[in-house]
Amino acid sequence: MAAELSGSTALVTGGTSGIGRATAIALAGLGAHVVLSGRDATRGEQVVERIRAAGGKAGFVAADLKDAASARSLAARARELGGHVDVLVNNAGIFPTGPSADTTEAGFDRVYTTNVKVPFFLVAELAPEMARRGHGAIVNVSTLVAARGMAGMALYGSSKAAVELMTKAWAAEFGPSGVRVNAVSPGPTRTEGTAAFGDGLDELAAAGPAGRVAAPEEIAAAIAFLVGSGSSFVQGVVLPVDGGRLAV
Ligand code: NAP
Repeated sequence: MAAELSGSTALVTGGTSGIGRATAIALAGLGAHVVLSGRDATRGEQVVERIRAAGGKAGFVAADLKDAASARSLAARARELGGHVDVLVNNAGIFPTGPSADTTEAGFDRVYTTNVKVPFFLVAELAPEMARRGHGAIVNVSTLVAARGMAGMALYGSSKAAVELMTKAWAAEFGPSGVRVNAVSPGPTRTEGTAAFGDGLDELAAAGPAGRVAAPEEIAAAIAFLVGSGSSFVQGVVLPVDGGRLAV
């Protein structure tokens, strides 16, 4: 039996680390040709090697996602490598926290560019092609704090709240053409990016029913579900993958 995603190409942004790397590995395990992007070429090639060593298909594109042009050129490179892009996982993101009064305008713009503008233009570039082919899946990576008012999270949380609304609007825009657009909303997850939070991550996680921090593979499994045929009637949802934290 053919693997579920064989014949399809998946672009995973931020595939050099944490949740993105676990997602790239998971989708390759389902048979997708994975194009992963990031800035760190060494880590990117390591992920590619790991996927190839397991018999999968992958390529790395070094891309500093800093404006619409960089998003468009990543889309073009992914198209070149895969022939077409059937799956897009908008995972690359930054998550600075802290008092609003300490936030600079440049810092504000960096968060909204990485977390909102780049995913927007990647979808604008790739979703119409998926729609023309009549199928495709897009998964955006949000966060628990997009739906909870937490001190120090106004900038980051609001950027991901925008991503959640875009998810629903894109489901309406592209769903009728066969492109499913969904999001995951992870809770605290152990990655390179959250290493600096130290015990703070465990404290945040302790408040939820699971009472622990997630492994990136647990988030990747939910993303793989939203990409695969098991979620064929799931459109425009934001799936909490947070150990129950949003529920309580
Ligand atoms: P991470 O370990 O810091 O990895 C972030 C990834 O994004 C890296 O691959 C990085 O690439 C890439 N990236 C960041 N800025 C970029 C830029 N300007 N251009 C290109 N690539 C860029 O993060 P993570 O913890 O796995 O988080 C991944 C996503 O999940 C983010 O959207 C985050 O907001 C979300 N999330 C995380 C958690 C958590 O607790 N970890 C919880 C909720 C939501 P390079 O390193 O190669 O530059």
